Parts: sequence; C-alpha cells; structure tokens
Amino acid sequence: MPPSTASTQCGTLYIVATPIGNLGDISQRAADVLGRVDCIAAEDTRHSQRLLQALGIQKPLFALHEHNERERFGQLVDRLSAGESIALISDAGTPLISDPGFVLVRAARERGLTVTPVPGPCAITTALSAAGLPTDRFTFEGFLPAKRKARADALTSLKKEMRTLVFYEAPHRIRETIDEIASVMGEEREVVLARELTKAFETFYSGPAGRVAEMLAEDSYSERGEYVVMVAGASAAVEDATTVDADRMLEVLLAELPVKVAAKMTAEITGLSRNELYQRALALK
Ligand code: SAM
Repeated sequence: MPPSTASTQCGTLYIVATPIGNLGDISQRAADVLGRVDCIAAEDTRHSQRLLQALGIQKPLFALHEHNERERFGQLVDRLSAGESIALISDAGTPLISDPGFVLVRAARERGLTVTPVPGPCAITTALSAAGLPTDRFTFEGFLPAKRKARADALTSLKKEMRTLVFYEAPHRIRETIDEIASVMGEEREVVLARELTKAFETFYSGPAGRVAEMLAEDSYSERGEYVVMVAGASAAVEDATTVDADRMLEVLLAELPVKVAAKMTAEITGLSRNELYQRALALK
C-alpha cells in the first residue's frame, strides 16, 4: 500500500467515512486520521468503539446524533476554534449522507474553520457501482416517508423522473415499498435491490418491479438486512407513448375482454400501474 499522506492539522474537522459492513473497507488514510485526532465525535459511541478497537485506536469519544446535534455542535466548534482536531464518524458509511453532521459542518464552515473529507464507503455509490443501471445521472431520495399515503405521493411525484432513482429503506418496510413502486410506476419498471452490501449475505435482486416484489415475498429472510433500492428512470419515449396510447389500448381490449383482464394486459404492455389502468378502464366502460 502507498504511504498515507494523512497528517492532522490543528483546528480541523475531519469527516471520516467508515465501512458499511466489511471492516476491510476502512481506508489507510481514515485509520491514520482517526489515530491522530484529539477526539472523535460518533453517532453511537458504543458501536464505534468496536471499530476503533479493531483498529487499535483509543481516543476520547463524544456522542453526536440527531437528538443532540443542535445542543452539542457549539462545544465542538469551540474546541476546533481552540485548535483541537476532531473526526466525525457515523455508524456506517459517510457522515451526513442520511446521517448526522450537517449542523456541525455548517457551523464550522461559518466560523471559517477547516473541514476536510476523508472519503470511503457509502451505500449509494457502492450499490450503484454494481447494479447495472445507468449511473451517468441519478437522484438520491434518502428514505421514503413511512406513512403509506405520503410514500405513494412521493413516488407519484417521481414517476416521470428520467434519472436513476436511489432510496434507502428499512428492512421492515422493504416489501411494502416495492409493492408501492410496482403499483405507482408500473410492474414493468426495472428495479434493483442491493441487500447487505459488503457483508456475508450480500444479495442483488433485479428485474421488473412486479417480479422483484415476488422474489421478496418468496424469501423468508427478506425483512432482515439493509437495503438500497434503485429504480430505472422513466424512459421519455415509453412514458409519452404509453400515457397517450393506454386509453386507446383499453378501449380496444374492453370490446372483447373483462375490465380486469384488459387492465392487466395494458399494464403489461405499457408498464403503467395496473390499479390506475383498472380505474381508467372502469371509467371508459
Ligand atoms: N451514511 C450511510 C452511507 O454512507 O451509506 C447511510 C446511513 S443510513 C442511516 C442507513 C441506510 O443506508 C440503511 O437503512 C440502508 O438503506 C443503507 N445501507 C447502509 N449500509 C448498507 C449495506 N451494507 N447494504 C445495503 N444498504 C445499506
């Protein structure tokens, strides 16, 4: 390994990425910085203690999490101003990416203090790098709302987004979320799920949303582990053509078939939501 160029400077806040599962993913520079700073601010000090122990590092640890960041950031900024060097880490991955740290980084920058990133693992880029979906442009949407109606509204507002969509999702909501994606964006919309990245049971599920929902239903461990959800962006040609043609297709099929079958077939051909098409078919009939 090339020599690390990490030398810590007084009064600097280091934003240090840590592994998202596999401890071997800690960078040499991250380990060097953690070993040299005066203290470490961690989301969960007990959790981070295990990583530091594995690295043979003993440092004063401070808890900085979503519930105390607004009270604590002032003390940390004062310590930085007094010349101490501090590293910020979260439980896993890159701090501030769906994790605490924004208030502290903002305040440090406003005081003219040096804030330096020490890059490393992040579930978004790790998942995208192996998903086989377009990565030239993508949009990260964080966690979808937990409540069903708000989640369906959020997905509806993203239905025509042409960039690859990336979400984080909690394991106990993964099945509902994929069902909702299939319902709102269509059963044919391509979905890739990255589960337990860099860990022993790393798994990728990919295919049309309707099929991925079935795969999850068949997997008795699907509600365990961590997930990144990726959804192919809407294709301009398909989206425009399908919305225009769906009614015509329904009209032709309804002349010969029951509403349910006509809606199902139109959904399969256009990739639009079966529920929405069912409602449209009822209105047309
Ligand atoms: N800061 C982290 C990062 O850089 O990726 C993300 C923190 S966020 C609170 C935690 C979410 O990230 C999880 O609910 C899951 O969606 C995703 N995640 C984290 N580690 C993961 C892993 N090993 N495999 C899949 N998803 C993961």
